[in-house]
Amino acid sequence: MSKLYFSYAAMNAGKSTVLLQASWNYQERGMRTLLFTSALYANAEEGRITSRIGINANAHLYTEADDLLARITREHKKRRVDCVFVDEAQFLTKDQVWQLARISDRLNIPVLCYGLRTDFRGELFPGSAELLAIADSLREIRTICHCGRKATMVVRRTPDGRALTSGDQVGIEKSMYLSLCRGHWEEETGRWPIAKPVAKLKAVKSKPKPAARKKPKPRSLPIAAAATRRPPKRAKR
Ligand SMILES: [Zn+2]
Repeated sequence: MSKLYFSYAAMNAGKSTVLLQASWNYQERGMRTLLFTSALYANAEEGRITSRIGINANAHLYTEADDLLARITREHKKRRVDCVFVDEAQFLTKDQVWQLARISDRLNIPVLCYGLRTDFRGELFPGSAELLAIADSLREIRTICHCGRKATMVVRRTPDGRALTSGDQVGIEKSMYLSLCRGHWEEETGRWPIAKPVAKLKAVKSKPKPAARKKPKPRSLPIAAAATRRPPKRAKR
């Protein structure tokens, strides 16, 4: 039985590179792969999957109006398809994810999807949410934040470098995005430090700490050690 795979990551993790490598592995063995990418980022009618390290390949474009089950079935009837690859899978609709699931279940063709897990607001893309829900296999492609931690979040920046916290899920330029760890993402988007109420609480908590630590010692000792130790300890104070 073939599987539906979802490889997810933040921006610039090399998803397209991994996709193209995997497709190449099939082709090298004389197998036929079908490549799809979203029409949202395409500037021409013809699709192309490009990776930052320079490799690329032609791909079919898909829009949210496409019935991928019908399209792939048609291709498969013309000539056997051994594996389907979908880039920018975050832009798939819920229905399209199910269409791809049927490709693996009914046509017995493995389907490998690659996409972003969350948008710049930290929310799941519809396609990614459905893939996370129903894919047979989930794989994370890792990339790192400037601090060295795993980058799981994406910020979208204005040309002057400010982080956007609202707006369309689809950005025009990929270069506007930056991958960060969750902690730095919260700082970059202004979610941390949290506004006044909790900040005050934190200040109140942290100040009495040194004093509070010193006091319990003499207090707890007499209680634990009972009467014998109480007089000398008290005398010291
Ligand atoms: Zn970080």
